[in-house]
Amino acid sequence: MPADRLVIAIDGPSGSGKSSAAKGVARSLGLAYLDTGAMYRAVTWALLRAGVDPSDRDAVIASTRDADLEISLDPDAPWVRVNGQDVTDAIREPGISATVSAVATLPECRANLVERQRAIIEAAPAGIVAEGRDITTVVAPDADVRLLLTADPEIRMARRKAELGGKVDAEALADQVLRRDADDSTLVNFTTAADGVTHLDGTYLTLEGTIQAILDLVARTAR
Ligand code: C5P
Repeated sequence: MPADRLVIAIDGPSGSGKSSAAKGVARSLGLAYLDTGAMYRAVTWALLRAGVDPSDRDAVIASTRDADLEISLDPDAPWVRVNGQDVTDAIREPGISATVSAVATLPECRANLVERQRAIIEAAPAGIVAEGRDITTVVAPDADVRLLLTADPEIRMARRKAELGGKVDAEALADQVLRRDADDSTLVNFTTAADGVTHLDGTYLTLEGTIQAILDLVARTAR
């Protein structure tokens, strides 16, 4: 690893707290932050906006390839634009969560987004904390620090419910967390840590405790 650059890869299922933890780590170390899930969500927004049928494989692949994506790397000021339009809030809507797996389960779409993610990671001058489902295994398997952050399903559903302001019924919550994880895991394994990846169970950790555990791991392994 070049002494002046640090790449930290964090994977985990939905509601594991990886986005908040990754932002906190980036802030603390002065690194950029990449939310790869936001890229899958933005592509999904674009295809729904264009009236593409999510089950039309070729159209979804074409729409992904053609999407002009811009994403903030500032952990304190996240934004996402697709085809020139700001979609920062729109990509968090339940309709996107319900459809995003249609993009994430197509190998061609994954390959396209992985390529863009690798370019972003390589271009970050001081380094970056990148989080998603396949960062430790596919996007940046040579990252300086690789971590799988998990939490028990009950905790993940409770966190997601709190994120949504409590305004979600049990069925929608299970769809957003358990069904999405099940669909997402058909192409990518993010429930068990690959060789060389550290597993951190955040079930009983606060956000601050999780961030500290990651910072300790960075101190032990990367410098
Ligand atoms: O992390 P988030 O829940 O925002 O991710 C949205 C969706 O993007 C996931 O449900 C998954 O389908 C997809 N995703 C992925 N690989 C990544 C990041 C996200 O397949 N590296």
